[in-house]
Amino acid sequence: MKRILLLGGIGEALALARRLGAEHIYSLAGLGKVPEDLTCQMRVGGFGGAEGLADFIHREGIELLVDATHPYAAQISRNAARAAAQAGIPCWALRRPGWMASAGDDWREVFDWPSLIAALAPFQRPLFTLGREPLEHLHEIPAHQHWTVRCLQGQPAGERAEVIGARGPFSLEDERALFARLNCDVLVSKNSGSAATEHKLQIARERGVPVLVLQRPSLPAVDREFSEAEALWQALQVANP
Ligand code: NAP
Repeated sequence: MKRILLLGGIGEALALARRLGAEHIYSLAGLGKVPEDLTCQMRVGGFGGAEGLADFIHREGIELLVDATHPYAAQISRNAARAAAQAGIPCWALRRPGWMASAGDDWREVFDWPSLIAALAPFQRPLFTLGREPLEHLHEIPAHQHWTVRCLQGQPAGERAEVIGARGPFSLEDERALFARLNCDVLVSKNSGSAATEHKLQIARERGVPVLVLQRPSLPAVDREFSEAEALWQALQVANP
């Protein structure tokens, strides 16, 4: 039986971890919730770059590395590919496809924070749903704007902004109510491709609200890539009967 190190941080990774036996290890960065009811082993926190991860692989006798991290977590994915190559073991990855714009959508791709701020200029009430990054810029909110930032942890933000702490999944009804309450005129989002957070896009379409979509980072080539967790699980059964 090959010993697996599963790098997680998204719902699909947790679902895979729940199916792993006691000899395997599930790893989390430690920013979100840490499950306490897994059969497999767990570790929490960074490895110390690709070198640290390669050392961990050697030390623990890992034979297969599975990268099931978030599509925007590019650093750990790069580290995973490098560390696996260095340790001489295969690296597999779950690469969730992005959402696709459909009729009625007004999506505008942005590449980084400066291009996002430039694209936001014509709007007054943006809703940010791309994590904590906007929190570092709350002191730069232009005079004509009020920001709402939804991320894992809420915090007081003064009169010019609201920071909502919430964790998906978000229902269609709740997203509809949120957009109506905020009267937001633009949505800012990553293209995570997650079913848990896609309802906001439907509400943006319904309300004719444009969406500024942060471009996906490029991710390294790996030995095997899967677009769905179930396909990855089936391949694990074949490789690890
Ligand atoms: P990142 O920039 O790629 O990673 C930053 C550092 O965090 C890595 O270099 C690594 O530290 C550590 N790390 C990340 N994932 C880890 C894991 N599964 N196990 C152990 N260490 C890990 O990632 P990020 O964007 O900050 O995201 C951090 C975590 O949150 C990821 O696991 C990701 O799956 C999850 N997440 C990210 C997003 C997002 O939008 N970026 C959204 C939802 C969930 P060392 O270099 O010290 O090993």
